[in-house]
Amino acid sequence: MISIRGLTKRFDKTTVLNAIDLDIADGERVVVIGPSGTGKSTLLRCINFLDRPQSGQIQIDNLQVDAKKATKSDILALQRSTAFVFQNYALFANKTAKENIMEALVTVQKMPEAAAEERAMSVLAETGLTDKADSYPSALSGGQQQRVGIGRAMALQSSLMLFDEPTSALDPEWVGEVLDLMRRVAERKQTMLIVTHEMQFAKEIADRVVFMDEGRIVEAAPPEQLFGDPKDERLQRFLRRIN
Ligand code: ADP
Ligand code: MG
Repeated sequence: MISIRGLTKRFDKTTVLNAIDLDIADGERVVVIGPSGTGKSTLLRCINFLDRPQSGQIQIDNLQVDAKKATKSDILALQRSTAFVFQNYALFANKTAKENIMEALVTVQKMPEAAAEERAMSVLAETGLTDKADSYPSALSGGQQQRVGIGRAMALQSSLMLFDEPTSALDPEWVGEVLDLMRRVAERKQTMLIVTHEMQFAKEIADRVVFMDEGRIVEAAPPEQLFGDPKDERLQRFLRRIN
């Protein structure tokens, strides 16, 4: 169970996250939607302290972190229990697919090299990229690069996987294979928090959809309800605009 309370982030005087409360059950898939600039990426980045929130509490498993009192070791522990999939893949250009997946296992999780390599090869098999193990990102398609990005996050076996618009940077031809891989991740009962503009995918994969606007959660409901019977006027307007 993951619990977020009062998560607040300001850049200078602008409040980008305004006291966000969100609970995510074990194995639950929560999709976040909303207009651009409303704080969706910041929410994900504050959950694992890639951006440090000014206040709020995050609880993941037995770990409880208060933004105002967080120590370096709290933050490290939080980052170990989450895995991030970035819009732009964020792969190391000078490392092969396999080495990209091994990197955090070896440096952050302190896994012995041989074990990390074994884990990386098993993830590459699951992502259908065994034959690309020794390829550098520049030799991979966008879809393959993002599958490595997702594989790297899968390899960490963390409690929570965070996806920030994982298909937004892709040419349309590669979107399908990345969504397919995310469906496979979901089948493993992995807890997932996903920001996406792929509404059809959201309807299909989400247990719950959260609509954000101006740094707040405006509405949260199962997809049939949120898309079929939106209550808030801002959500209605947003859905009209994207349809
Ligand atoms: P979304 O992902 O919903 O498009 P973001 O979380 O990226 O929105 O951004 C929310 C707001 O915070 C935007 O107004 C953005 O300009 C601002 N913002 C994001 N990151 C920074 C930063 N590092 N410094 C200053 N402002 C930022
Ligand atoms: Mg964003």
